[in-house]
This record gives sequence, C-alpha cells and structure tokens, in this order.
Amino acid sequence: MEVLEVAPGVYQVTASRVSWQLIVEGDSITVVDAGWPRDYKRVVASLEQIGHSPGSVDAVLLTHAHVDHMGAAEKLRSLHDIPVRAHQEESELALGLRHESITTAKVISQMWRPSVFRFALMSLGRGGASVTPLTAIETFQDGATLDTPGSPIAIHVPGHTSGSTAYHLGDKGVLITGDALVTTHLYTREVGARVMPAEFNHDHELAISSIGRLEDIDATVVLTGHGPPYEGSPKRAVEEATARL
Ligand SMILES: [Zn+2]
Repeated sequence: MEVLEVAPGVYQVTASRVSWQLIVEGDSITVVDAGWPRDYKRVVASLEQIGHSPGSVDAVLLTHAHVDHMGAAEKLRSLHDIPVRAHQEESELALGLRHESITTAKVISQMWRPSVFRFALMSLGRGGASVTPLTAIETFQDGATLDTPGSPIAIHVPGHTSGSTAYHLGDKGVLITGDALVTTHLYTREVGARVMPAEFNHDHELAISSIGRLEDIDATVVLTGHGPPYEGSPKRAVEEATARL
C-alpha cells in the first residue's frame, strides 16, 4: 500500500491496483472510495499512517458503486457509524438493487489474455466476487457542495455507471475522477489518461461525452480510481484521454 500526499491534506492511497483518497481538515477526514471488500484493514491502516483512525472520518464519498471502490464502505458505515454518500443515480447500485458492472461471463471469456487472467486472480483475492451492498446511503445531486472536509463539489459524470461522480476540491486544486477518467489501463497497466475500456462502461458513448464536463475544472492535479496522480490540468488530461480513444 502506498500513501502519497499530493496536495496539503490530500492523500492518494493505492493498493491492489485501486486508489482511494483521504482529505484531512484539522481532526476530520473525508474518505473518497473504499477499495475492495477485503481492503477494510488497508483503509484503516491508511488512516493510521497519516495519524488518524476511523473515528476521525466524517464521511465516505463514493465515486461509483463498483466492487473495487465500495468494497469496505458498508463495514466502515456499520462499525464506525460513518455516513456513506453518493450521487442519487448511484444509490440503487450501492444498495445492491440494480447492477451496472462488467459481467463475470465477459471477464471469463477474456481470461486467455494473461493480463486479464492476472487481474481476475487479484480481484478474487481481494473479495471481488462478493460485494457487500450498503444498507443505508445518503445521496446528493449534481453540483452539490458537500459539507465535509475539502468541501468537495460533486460533478455528475455518467457513463461508467449512471451515477458516477467526480469531486472537485477547489481550495486544494485537486480533481478526483473515480473511473470516469483513469490514468492506467486496468489490464495492461499502461500509464496515461484514458476512459475505461468499453466493456467496463455501462454506457461507453456517454462515458466519452461525460469527460467533457471535467475540461474546464480549475485544478493542477487529477486523482483517479486506477493509476498514478496526474500532474496537470483536467483539460490536458481530457485531451490525452480523447486522443487515446
Ligand atoms: Zn474501478
């Protein structure tokens, strides 16, 4: 697990090919995403590494409700009474009432590719086949400024899932994009700004058009769900992602 401070009080944590973010203000923390189902201890360890504990967490914000991002969310909610918040369009997914994920059949059909095989094995080891849905969720709408450390502004970027959300931390010059825009290829691990491969997106065309919503965001660092921090403007990241289509 790697914990990297990318801006004052903003940390990117990376483990098992997925990232989550910690935003610290005084004694209070916002956690963006929560890794795989078996990453609960890693989320706690990442908080401890920066001198905190789950007791300091004000809220968990989800970029989207896939197994590699909401894995430990229900445990954080139920064990520590931390509210979990997501865009309104994502709530049914987070509660397990609806699914917009890549199917196991699709993954299996591509397992002959070594990079897919390795990813699938890692995913299984992290509990990727057994997501725990949330039993309660708080929702917000596009454009909401959330009253939690970092005062993130929610930007609805549908396509990867219906309620995929980016978070802009205006004071910190940071944009967090989840899987709407990533900086590594999930299978091949090639680095560079890109949209997720079509098979991972619920609506690929919508995912491509949604990154346009990030173009004019004022930030100098882009943090994504998969891949290293991107040092540069969202505009440049979107241009690079578009060039890779
Ligand atoms: Zn993901």
